Amino acid sequence: MKLERSQKLFEEAQQYLPGGVDSPVRAFKAVGGTPIFIVRGKGSKIHDEDGNEFIDYVCSWGPLILGHSHPQVVKALKKAVEQGTSFGASTELEVRLAKLISKAFPSMEMLRFVNSGTEATMSALRLARAFTRRDKIIKFDGGYHGHSDGLLTKGGSGLATLGIPDSPGVPLSYTQNTLVAPYNNIGDVKQLFERYPGEIAAVIVEPVAANMGVVLPEHGFLGGLRQLTRDSGALLIFDEVITGFRVAYGGAQSLYNVTPDLTCLGKIIGGGLPVGAYGGGRKLMEMMAPVGPVYQAGTLSGNPLAMTAGIETLNVLGQPGVYSKLEEKTSKLEDGIAKVASEAGVRLRTSRIASLLTAFFTGTPVTDYDSAKKSDTALFSRFFTHLLAEGVYWPPSQFEAAFVSLAHSDEDIKRTVEAIGNALKAV
Ligand SMILES: *Cc1c(COP(=O)(O)O)cnc(C)c1O
Repeated sequence: MKLERSQKLFEEAQQYLPGGVDSPVRAFKAVGGTPIFIVRGKGSKIHDEDGNEFIDYVCSWGPLILGHSHPQVVKALKKAVEQGTSFGASTELEVRLAKLISKAFPSMEMLRFVNSGTEATMSALRLARAFTRRDKIIKFDGGYHGHSDGLLTKGGSGLATLGIPDSPGVPLSYTQNTLVAPYNNIGDVKQLFERYPGEIAAVIVEPVAANMGVVLPEHGFLGGLRQLTRDSGALLIFDEVITGFRVAYGGAQSLYNVTPDLTCLGKIIGGGLPVGAYGGGRKLMEMMAPVGPVYQAGTLSGNPLAMTAGIETLNVLGQPGVYSKLEEKTSKLEDGIAKVASEAGVRLRTSRIASLLTAFFTGTPVTDYDSAKKSDTALFSRFFTHLLAEGVYWPPSQFEAAFVSLAHSDEDIKRTVEAIGNALKAV
């Protein structure tokens, strides 16, 4: 596979952008090799600067559940851009998207649009702290909620611990109110509530973890969090930035039938443009300025182009049969991977919900970040590189989810399984 132009651009990019990228995972550091520079995407395929075509399983890390350049989204965007790109004032589009979201997520009686998932979680936590008048929060090891200071935190030893900064530049004082527990371990969360009575404002959780690879919540985990938070006057925050409109139209909360106090969304609701949102019950949300005292603002928040892409995306997703199609495609992919892995004699475990999938290179069950980390990342790197040469763009890290879109055809899935079979034999 020729990567001359990508290689050249990557060298030039590194002179102006740290690591040549605007988000670390794009630099392929976990897998090695040259990151491909993309020229265009259509449906399930992307094309790079050297004229290579790939079946895309990154899909912009989730937003493109309809595939690239979906005709309905493109058409609406073209029309919207003619009307003006930003006003810094209200538009009907914000009301329309808010209504669509609130209907899909009844727990979000009201919501506020922001520009990224990072802003959504950061603002939801500010609101939770203001509402409860408490400072501490609990997050889970391996859970990702964007890059705001207090959330860039890792646990100490895998047991429930006080968070320590996961990046230089984050003051210890910013993470001292962040408690960290292992995912799926309700006992450790209970311990934290006992150790800090009346001090914990909120638990923030990915209801299906998707940033340590896909890890499903064990039976009783989410319900247990609901119970513990309710009993102690803390709020439960579901970070559904990935899972919202992905695992089901109504997100993980509809699938697992657990209702959080606050929900964070992003990715799909922007249809490929920069958006985030947080929302919850009216009483809670009316604490936000200008109704209430909690401040949060944004120059481009509710941007008309982003709202338009979101509305069109949700309109397509709201049609009957969409989620069963996604389920069917992805389960075919999962079954195919399991089959070729066993043929190749590679120890591999797939973890999947709806159109969200990780193939962990491990022989042991993955239930939290510690068990995910047992995966053979060197083997994954070789797998990724072979797969890329086969024309399949898989997420360039063992600890990321692969995303299947409505645009992935049966033929795409078949070709992908063959390519994965070849890659697994080669490694
Ligand atoms: C992507 C993601 C975020 C951050 O969203 P950005 O738009 O990248 O800031 C937060 N939470 C989860 C679960 C995510 O997957």
